[in-house]
Amino acid sequence: MTAKLIRFKDLAPGIRHFVFELPGAGALDFQPGQFASLTAQIGGREITRAYSLAAAPRGDNQFEICLNLVPDGVFSPYLFALGAGDTVELKGILGTFVWREPAMDSILVATGTGIVPYRAMLQVPQNRRITLIYGTRNAHNLLFLDEFRALSGVHFIPTVTRPDPDWAGATGRVQPLLLEALGERTDVQVYACGLREMVDSVRALCKERGMDRRQIITEKFD
Ligand SMILES: Cc1cc2nc3c(=O)[nH]c(=O)nc-3n(C[C@H](O)[C@H](O)[C@H](O)COP(=O)(O)OP(=O)(O)OC[C@H]3O[C@@H](n4cnc5c(N)ncnc54)[C@H](O)[C@@H]3O)c2cc1C
Repeated sequence: MTAKLIRFKDLAPGIRHFVFELPGAGALDFQPGQFASLTAQIGGREITRAYSLAAAPRGDNQFEICLNLVPDGVFSPYLFALGAGDTVELKGILGTFVWREPAMDSILVATGTGIVPYRAMLQVPQNRRITLIYGTRNAHNLLFLDEFRALSGVHFIPTVTRPDPDWAGATGRVQPLLLEALGERTDVQVYACGLREMVDSVRALCKERGMDRRQIITEKFD
């Protein structure tokens, strides 16, 4: 299915939010947390990449993604070179990184653009207590800050590893903050999304705590 770029916005240096529409398609139906599988002919080869959907379905034919430019990458530079009206193929909307039922209190952990699926997931009210731990290097790379701060019922903990002098929030990596949020509890679900190193270490920490693997829900970007 052909997806047409209708607008885009830079959220931070090298991080862009894209809104596509599927001309002639009906309302898109998917679960928040799922990803779009996009494909294009680049350098004579068909290249396919996954991008988490950045917004929950809203009854129209549009979808949003948000990604960082990997300068020596293949597909992200291609997407960053698109202008309004340009197109890319949507192969499908897939993935199992979605809210697990029955609902348990949940700790969501993200680094970098790993925050993207949570934006969609948190646009739908949840009947569970939620802690969102979100780490980046610098405060200016924290995406959707105002939106997350405005969410009621979500304990939002942004953290940065290289704080500017005016940063008043948490500092350091997400893992110690996860352990603090967990305390002695094992009756929670932990969601982790981002690059492999963080996701694997969160999984290992939860397992060490004795959590069942079904309570550890992960999405790796690399
Ligand atoms: C399920 C899923 C969902 C994803 N959702 C997103 C998303 O919402 N936003 C997003 O930015 N990316 C996301 N990705 C990563 C995305 O699919 C691409 O891998 C990324 O855009 C790099 O593609 P590329 O062709 O430009 O680089 P490639 O040539 O494929 O890779 C170059 C290098 O970049 C590394 N890399 C991959 N992803 C990232 C990243 N996000 N940041 C830094 N380095 C990276 C790879 O490990 C590799 O070493 C997702 C991946 C998966 C599997």
